Amino acid sequence: MSDEAPLVIVGTGLAGYNLAKEVRKLDTERELLLITADDGRFYSKPLLSTGFAKAKEADELAAHSAASMAEQLNACVLDHTQVTAIDPQQRLLRLGERQQAYSELVLAVGAEPRRLPWADELGEQLLSINDLHDYGRFRAALQGKQRVVIIGAGLIGCEFANDLVAGGFQVSVVASDPYLMPQLIPEPVAAAVQAQLEALGVIFHLGCAIESLEPNGQGVQLRLDDGSQIEADQALSAIGLAPRLALAEQAGLELGRGIVVDRHLATRQPHIYALGDCAEVQGLNLMYVMPLMTAARALAKTLCGERSALSYPAMPVMVKTPACPLVVAPPLTAESGHWVTTGEGTDLQALFHDEQGQLHGFALTGSRVAEKLKLTRELPGWLL
Ligand code: FAD
Repeated sequence: MSDEAPLVIVGTGLAGYNLAKEVRKLDTERELLLITADDGRFYSKPLLSTGFAKAKEADELAAHSAASMAEQLNACVLDHTQVTAIDPQQRLLRLGERQQAYSELVLAVGAEPRRLPWADELGEQLLSINDLHDYGRFRAALQGKQRVVIIGAGLIGCEFANDLVAGGFQVSVVASDPYLMPQLIPEPVAAAVQAQLEALGVIFHLGCAIESLEPNGQGVQLRLDDGSQIEADQALSAIGLAPRLALAEQAGLELGRGIVVDRHLATRQPHIYALGDCAEVQGLNLMYVMPLMTAARALAKTLCGERSALSYPAMPVMVKTPACPLVVAPPLTAESGHWVTTGEGTDLQALFHDEQGQLHGFALTGSRVAEKLKLTRELPGWLL
């Protein structure tokens, strides 16, 4: 297929649309096609876990329609269109019965929620929220309901716990983890966040496995391995996301945790790139906004003729638990080390040092969040 075909981006999440915006800053003319399985509306995904407290409908979280994005980007946006296969030799995409040529292809297909074994049986009573459509569906399922059980106590589960309780719901959280967000923060920091969420009324069942999860009238009933039983009107699964790999796998691309790309966001197949939640850059699959924005800037340059290697500075994440403000820089650059937590009450500083005394990560709560900038400067870059 010829180089005259468009640059095609599959996915119109923050990765796809931000890449398109960056490309347009460098090249206003190149033919650009974005293809998405969803409705192509532009929205900021982090708002999904702050919408219940503000009683926002899904439509209110959408900033622009697909048509408006197409106009702004001088691009074509093909919405409600699933890419079903890639033919890297012919540089063709299959869209069901149709096909589409590309000159260069970028996969920005995101990640999908891991499914609990009861998901099929429970249908609308057990949902997850990973996009605008899911958010609207969950809001609809919540109509007239009060008691929500969240399964999972990672970052997303904690954010939804805070948001739903602030939105007037009765919230319980069930997780096999011994404390909140164990992949990100040490136990004393987790305890501070938990205490503040409990003060708002959230009930935690941590370190518990679910033995059964069944429909119970209009709601659900859970039995845990500590013998306790929970009844709720609605369940929300927040057990994590996994990069969407099916398309890349079919095309024979190298896979790790995500679609494996080099520092130029390139796969080993000529003319195919990946970024965002679906991509793994030198072993890092970072499902956050700042890394994908950094990657979008670098990839846009490469696609526009200025080959540009990606580097990541350390990029702390603000966790949206306003009950206990929290900022985290996970210690991605250390193979070993230990956390030391100081401070009192909800004003904590946890620092992760290696054996040589180099700082690799931090978690700050309450008033200590103000130390974020100073500490970030002391961290090694995540990808140098
Ligand atoms: P997505 O937004 O998932 O987009 C994937 C796109 O690919 C979609 O348009 C989809 O339709 C399309 N697609 C997939 N497969 C196909 C196919 N075969 N054919 C056509 N189209 C396809 N990060 C932060 O840094 N800070 C936060 O506060 C924060 N809060 C979050 C809160 C929630 C509730 C969630 C779920 C995530 C949060 N994140 C946060 C993570 C951040 O939002 C994501 O890292 C980011 O939005 C991912 O963007 P993406 O474009 O890679 O993927």
